[in-house]
Amino acid sequence: EQTLIPDTPDTLAEMMTESGSGSGLPLLVQRTFSRQITLIQCIGKGKFGEVYKGTWRSDDVAVKIFSSRDEVSWRRETEIYRSNLIRHENILGFIASDNKDTGTVTQLWLVTEYHSLGSLFDVLQNQTVTKEDMFYMALSSTNGLMHLHMEIESMGDKEYRKPAIAHRDIKSRNILVKKDGRTCCIADLGLAVTYDSQTKNVNIPPQGCRVGTKRYMAPELLEDSFNHTNFDCFRQADIYSLALVFWELISRMDDDGFVFHKKHELPYYDSVQSDPPIEEMKHTVCTLNKRPNFSERWKSDFALRKFTDLVSECWHKNSGARLSALRIKKTLLTILETFQNSKTEKKEVNTINSCEKSDH
Ligand code: ADP
Ligand code: MG
Ligand code: MG
Repeated sequence: EQTLIPDTPDTLAEMMTESGSGSGLPLLVQRTFSRQITLIQCIGKGKFGEVYKGTWRSDDVAVKIFSSRDEVSWRRETEIYRSNLIRHENILGFIASDNKDTGTVTQLWLVTEYHSLGSLFDVLQNQTVTKEDMFYMALSSTNGLMHLHMEIESMGDKEYRKPAIAHRDIKSRNILVKKDGRTCCIADLGLAVTYDSQTKNVNIPPQGCRVGTKRYMAPELLEDSFNHTNFDCFRQADIYSLALVFWELISRMDDDGFVFHKKHELPYYDSVQSDPPIEEMKHTVCTLNKRPNFSERWKSDFALRKFTDLVSECWHKNSGARLSALRIKKTLLTILETFQNSKTEKKEVNTINSCEKSDH
């Protein structure tokens, strides 16, 4: 078989750096590459397709295989991952996209970096997190969302412009955890909306306006009072969903042996049924204006109180009152800094104490 890649690099890392492009390998290389992958096992099942762990040479990759029914999502996700300047530490690393026409069926593939810990949802199911890791997980997710939301403009040169992107399906299942156990990256971009301020065009994919996971849907979407010509509204809806993810995180935080939730729970687990219909969500979130509970204990801890204040602002009923991703990032950095300082102070006090003890 004739190879389409001259002097093929041996590792994925080499291949990605040699491509020189900010948004992926050259298209022909993407196709050849994906056809050299061996699928190992199914690691996730979504509504429309399946995600597999696969290998290319000695590297692991993840392959999301869409059914032909969901070609729209595959097309959209591919398009978003191929946008200029999308690559970021906190956005799932895109490698290749391929549509294989076998004559009878079309196989639609999306190849990305593989993260063995899986999604944030999986991690919170399996374990609790430390206070510091919780802040890092929140911060890195925010960084990813901030990069998505940000439009990067540049004079003239189209290569160096990035559209603003809103995710529209932020939830713990769509955030992956890297192998250090605390760096998160945002995945599942199949519903994303883009915006270009030069053309003032909000580009909504064919799936429509009121999409996403109902449980995580912002009140204005549930009520259908959403202004889809204003891109800021899409950003604000993402922030609401992110706040629910933050609540999932803090609920699984181990604070000196205290964990709010012994087992991981989804937001509104105590208010709605599983796979709730939109009317039920609307009643809970809009009519009753209910939000997930906080533990009393968090009020007496400086960093945790700041964090819960942040969460409350981000799931505010009034979308205009929610914070921007940049604002959340700044607040989280301050919280993290105070927390780390108090940790070193505590350590110092402990060392002094033990020195005093050993003195006597
Ligand atoms: P869908 O659009 O069907 O929801 P996702 O892209 O969200 O598909 O993937 C579904 C699940 O597969 C995720 O929740 C996660 O558990 C797993 N998954 C997806 N991509 C990866 C990856 N790159 N590494 C590890 N697990 C992944
Ligand atoms: Mg998903
Ligand atoms: Mg999806």
